[in-house]
Amino acid sequence: MGSTLAQLLAAAPLHIALIEARSGVPEPVRVGECSSVGDFSARTAALSPASGALLKQIGAWQLLPPSEICAYEQMQVWDADGTGSIGFEAAELSMDGDPLGWIVEHNRLEWALAQRCAKQSSLHILHGSPLCALERSGRHSSDDEAMRLELEDGSHLSARLVIAADGGRSVARRLMGIDSAVWDCQQRAIVAVVETENSHRHTAWQRFTEDGPLALLPLAGGDGHFSSVVWSVDSAVVQHLLDLDDSAFSAALALGCERCLGAVRTVGKRFSFALSQHHARDYARPGFALIGDAVRTVHPLAGQGLNLGLLDAAVLAEELLRWQRLGGTMGEIEPLLRYQRRRREHNLAMLGAMAGLQQLFSARHPLLRLVRNEGLRWVDQAPRLKRFFARRAMGV
Ligand SMILES: Cc1cc2nc3c(=O)[nH]c(=O)nc-3n(C[C@H](O)[C@H](O)[C@H](O)COP(=O)(O)OP(=O)(O)OC[C@H]3O[C@@H](n4cnc5c(N)ncnc54)[C@H](O)[C@@H]3O)c2cc1C
Repeated sequence: MGSTLAQLLAAAPLHIALIEARSGVPEPVRVGECSSVGDFSARTAALSPASGALLKQIGAWQLLPPSEICAYEQMQVWDADGTGSIGFEAAELSMDGDPLGWIVEHNRLEWALAQRCAKQSSLHILHGSPLCALERSGRHSSDDEAMRLELEDGSHLSARLVIAADGGRSVARRLMGIDSAVWDCQQRAIVAVVETENSHRHTAWQRFTEDGPLALLPLAGGDGHFSSVVWSVDSAVVQHLLDLDDSAFSAALALGCERCLGAVRTVGKRFSFALSQHHARDYARPGFALIGDAVRTVHPLAGQGLNLGLLDAAVLAEELLRWQRLGGTMGEIEPLLRYQRRRREHNLAMLGAMAGLQQLFSARHPLLRLVRNEGLRWVDQAPRLKRFFARRAMGV
């Protein structure tokens, strides 16, 4: 997220340093050379059309050739415990020729962003040493006000403005003493890449089971037979699924998604993550702002975390550039508070929607089952409402 924001600000007369804890981003295997599920990374992201447009604007999209990303034209969502379902098609949502979104491996996207950053002579890139101390100093005149940063290798920097994009467990947020409201989702996500008997047909599939949502997201390559799995399951059952051998896990997965793509033939390495949502109480302080997962993390059931973070970057860049055109100084609180105001409502709505959906679909009460099945059917048959929800989710 930090590299996206740096790109958006790169043309302005600013000195920007990009600090990244890891040392460099390895180049991913080209999709054309990926012959097995093991060649793909298990961490993928569903990019919305709004995210695609932003990545085009900064030239990162152009480094992701069509053969490296998978457009999805349809989405099928259904309830394991009833007959309610809802389907979305790009054609019926007036997407101006765009698909509903694209599935891309996270490391492929990171690599494209890193390439773009490396080409910007105005960016000073510091890799391999995490931020470990941060404070605001010099309170006497605004000229002296600066953020002081220290990296683990002992180097020191100072800046008028620090923007933290250091993920859900943001060290910078903690160092600035900004609290976050946290909700444990009581679930873990199992992620893996699988090869299926039938082609994914450029469709994203999601089945809500009693234990949590199971998504199969289409990947490029493998002649349409590779998909990325995000299976969110209650913490109590996750270990059982992780302990299964590959063939038993494949069988459980095929059963879990009602064999929507036939048998699961091979499964790559499985990883699991604890799922929680959090929302920072403040997005900004004088000389400091948060973006991306550092502001909030959302349950992955709607694949929105990265999309929300890219919107944070776009809005913050817009406010900072506007402030600079008005003659303001970086680090002043006004544009940062405007950014917070513009993003908070959207973030809270998304957090609320994810928590609500998770609860609704894990409810075992017969009345709630009836309500959610009828609700799915009702929205599916109400084209305007469906179009409204879908376009909002896609940031259109
Ligand atoms: C299972 C799962 C599936 C998901 N699927 C989707 C999806 O389909 N679509 C979607 O939009 N989102 C999805 N997400 C969410 C998405 O992955 C995140 O929202 C997104 O990666 C957040 O990006 P970020 O840059 O804010 O944070 P991160 O990706 O966490 O990046 C933080 C960066 O900061 C660096 N860093 C950390 N600490 C320091 C430090 N002290 N000093 C310097 N650097 C530091 C890290 O090295 C890293 O590069 C999913 C999440 C999960 C868990």
